[in-house]
Amino acid sequence: MSADQNYTPPNDMPPGPIYPMLAGQKALVTGASKGLGQAMAIGFAEAGADVLVNYRGDRAGAEDTVQMIEKLGRKAVAFEADVASEEQTQAMFRCMIETFGRMDICVSNAAVQMNAPVDEMTLEQWQRVIDVNLTGTFLCAREAIRQFKKQGVDRSISYSMGKLILISSVHDIIPWEGHANYAAAKGGMMLFMKSLAQEVAHLRIRVNSIAPGAIRTPMNVEKITSPEIYQQQLLNLIPCKRIGEPEDVSRLAVWLASDQADYIHGSTIYPDGGMLLYPGFIGAG
Ligand code: NAD
Repeated sequence: MSADQNYTPPNDMPPGPIYPMLAGQKALVTGASKGLGQAMAIGFAEAGADVLVNYRGDRAGAEDTVQMIEKLGRKAVAFEADVASEEQTQAMFRCMIETFGRMDICVSNAAVQMNAPVDEMTLEQWQRVIDVNLTGTFLCAREAIRQFKKQGVDRSISYSMGKLILISSVHDIIPWEGHANYAAAKGGMMLFMKSLAQEVAHLRIRVNSIAPGAIRTPMNVEKITSPEIYQQQLLNLIPCKRIGEPEDVSRLAVWLASDQADYIHGSTIYPDGGMLLYPGFIGAG
């Protein structure tokens, strides 16, 4: 074909919304015994998916998540695995396939914080945070990509070969004193995610991150000991003037995992109420 001829590329976009948006899909969520992982596991079930609920230690929380999913008429299985362990992570993925026969969505959400000023930070505190938050993400991502490639694309389920979602944080951009290990892990996740997205996009495997701001989870609520602290400390950092709810993250995760987000590859989406908008500049002009 000569260069001046027009060419009309085929439209290979999925059809418009089909509800529930994840009908027939199978999802694995790490760290789903509480907090955002639990909210996303339930959000996926509401959208029609069956879910493997990973946890470490908190069996009661994982069983709660399973029960809530079953009440929605979906299937769920709890599986204990430390995502920092290659052996345990691989066992978790084997359980996923033995239970559900396939995997369409993998969310790497499990994370820990071990805070200390750098000159007081032990090697164990540094290493554990990197091992769980960053290496754990690599181990899950690697198993997920292997499984997606084995399955191929089944358009009756999804236009994607698979969807991998990494749960990062606004601290992949915003420095956080006293949390250098956590910020280093989240910052590392950003270029890991983008490199991986670039590597597998041609297979129609979608790799993206969700990087929340302050969400109402036990960890954050513990710090809000009075209305003054909420107003003067937390809301000062949030231009939209409300704390995020777990559903702000789970609704986004459902959309990102669905074919409605088919053209989203290698993006980080920040459900943060505007925290990244340099709130210190508000009224400072
Ligand atoms: P959380 O502490 O409430 O829950 C963490 C989950 O991970 C728990 O289920 C825990 O059992 C599990 N977990 C911890 N270590 C594990 C391991 N080694 N193997 C397997 N599971 C393990 O945390 P959260 O607030 O719900 O945070 C979830 C994710 O969201 C994390 O990646 C966190 O960095 C990110 N995040 C949270 C907020 C927030 O405001 N809560 C903000 C930004 C980012």
